[in-house]
Amino acid sequence: MSLCDLCLAQIDRPGHFPPHARLVKQGQVHTATGQHAFAYRCEDCGHAILLTAAHEDAPDRWVLGDEFPGAA
Ligand SMILES: [Zn+2]
Repeated sequence: MSLCDLCLAQIDRPGHFPPHARLVKQGQVHTATGQHAFAYRCEDCGHAILLTAAHEDAPDRWVLGDEFPGAA
């Protein structure tokens, strides 16, 4: 299923941007690169969205969880 409009608007936003109303927090995970992430799942489109940083010194941002094998 493709991303819903809410998720499309969420992805690539900075971490201080609040999760949209249909995102449900799933818990904490580690990405394939070893970064800590907060995992969310959308109740509308079913996609996983992560709040994480690309590397240790990078600011958090919203990314599509499907890009992180094993993380979602
Ligand atoms: Zn969605």
